[in-house]
Amino acid sequence: MNRRDFLKGIGVLSIGLSSCQLLEKKRAKQPNILFIFSDDHSLQTLGAYESRMQDFIKKHRITPNIDKIASEGVLFENSFVGNSICGPSRASILTGKHSHINGFTGNGDQFDANQWTVAKELQKENYQTAVIGKWHLGSLPTGFDDYNVLPGQGMYYNPDFISKDSRELVRKQGYCSDIIGDMTIEWLDKKRDKSKSFFLCSWHKAPHRTWMPHPRYFNLLDGVDVPEPENLFDDYEGRTSSASLQEMTIRDHINISTDVKVTPPVATTPLEKIRELTPRTKSKDPVTFDEFKRMTTEQKKAWDKYYVPRNEKFRAKNLKGKELTKWKYQAYLKDYIKCIKAMDDNVGKVLAYLKENDLEKDTIVIYSSDQGFYNGEHGWYDKRWMYEESLRNPLIVKWPKVTKPGTRCKEMVQNIDYAPTILDAVGIQPPKEIQGESLVPLLKGKIPEDWRKSILYTYYGKDIHAVISHRGVRTQRYKLIEFFTKNEWELYDLKKDPLEMHSEYDNPDYQSIVSDMKQELKKLKTDYQLE
Ligand code: CA
Repeated sequence: MNRRDFLKGIGVLSIGLSSCQLLEKKRAKQPNILFIFSDDHSLQTLGAYESRMQDFIKKHRITPNIDKIASEGVLFENSFVGNSICGPSRASILTGKHSHINGFTGNGDQFDANQWTVAKELQKENYQTAVIGKWHLGSLPTGFDDYNVLPGQGMYYNPDFISKDSRELVRKQGYCSDIIGDMTIEWLDKKRDKSKSFFLCSWHKAPHRTWMPHPRYFNLLDGVDVPEPENLFDDYEGRTSSASLQEMTIRDHINISTDVKVTPPVATTPLEKIRELTPRTKSKDPVTFDEFKRMTTEQKKAWDKYYVPRNEKFRAKNLKGKELTKWKYQAYLKDYIKCIKAMDDNVGKVLAYLKENDLEKDTIVIYSSDQGFYNGEHGWYDKRWMYEESLRNPLIVKWPKVTKPGTRCKEMVQNIDYAPTILDAVGIQPPKEIQGESLVPLLKGKIPEDWRKSILYTYYGKDIHAVISHRGVRTQRYKLIEFFTKNEWELYDLKKDPLEMHSEYDNPDYQSIVSDMKQELKKLKTDYQLE
């Protein structure tokens, strides 16, 4: 590890001061951290990021509040995860380590809550720490003075929460993103110890599947079509067999009932019909879909008012083939975008509280999501792959008086960097075994000469959607993926083929690149102690 000499300055400060005075001085200087996090938020649906949908997202004002953080801070254009799935990303963020080191490789694992985390370190250094919202690590939070988290994935409507005080499920009335926003403000307003700096995690469930919008946005995108990606009907030619073997296509696998909401809360569509429309997925009986069961009469009424006529029109059209896939794409993506809009409202609400309560200037605000997501690219929804849409994740940081407004950073950063960055920013030295690097120099607009030129990726194929295990390396231009259980490789030239439609692995012109990238992968495996 280098770039860890940031505490030298603090060492100078200690001359002539008692430890108590030093602590007071350090406390007075330490900024608050507000870490706003979402789940499955793609770059394509975040207005501040350049993408095929940027104009559409901006035109319909889907993320104005998150975009404002970018306009006031630093947006990382090349931000990546190490393992593109919910729980493992959170584990890497908390520990600053890749999945194979922190032990949380796939959803369904249980996070070893005894290990070091950034929250524990901040707590030890007198920060007041709290997490509100989606946790999804299989064990209850540790290192937090206070928590109020969703069990597992959580629900959009009238969700249950587990708090440190209750230690049992307590149902909250309302819409999940609004509840998380309100609880975040309530914590700041009533539970915050004003004598301490805080580390507050406001971690949203949205826009995770099953994309249940808030009623205030049911009609948001009426009468418009979301732009389609040019590879919505990808045939997976020109690559290894891996991409063709998954089970995450909008055409065959998205659930017509729970994902696309063709069935209203009181099921009227026969189960056989649902199975016919979702041929390769064993549909859940829609009547038992818990999201619908927990709705109030008012919520159900609002739901039916929007979805029942929409579904009647859909049935009347009797769509087949590509037209049916296109309809599912619009239905899925509109619900997904509407969930983001309600989440963004709550980002705005919390930021407004900071401003109104004179906390803005002393608070570092981070916005990120646990990974990116496929919005129809390659015909998919979901994540997991090392391909761009799910490898990338949004990362935006505003640090008053430090970050230059509207900065866009092109250096390669990864979610293992968040823990050391947070500690570095507040003057705490992270333990040596942390694998990430502090982004503080980048936030200050300085690129260290030895900044990383590549990132390591691993996916453990043990969850749903039949995505097989793989690992790989990405540089600014190239990406090498190893499907090691089948000894198959893919190489992409992202400059020439940004949509990753054709592997160059067997192209004679690329053999020296293949060789260099294999060497780089080997080096990263050694550096990060993989195997
Ligand atoms: Ca996720």
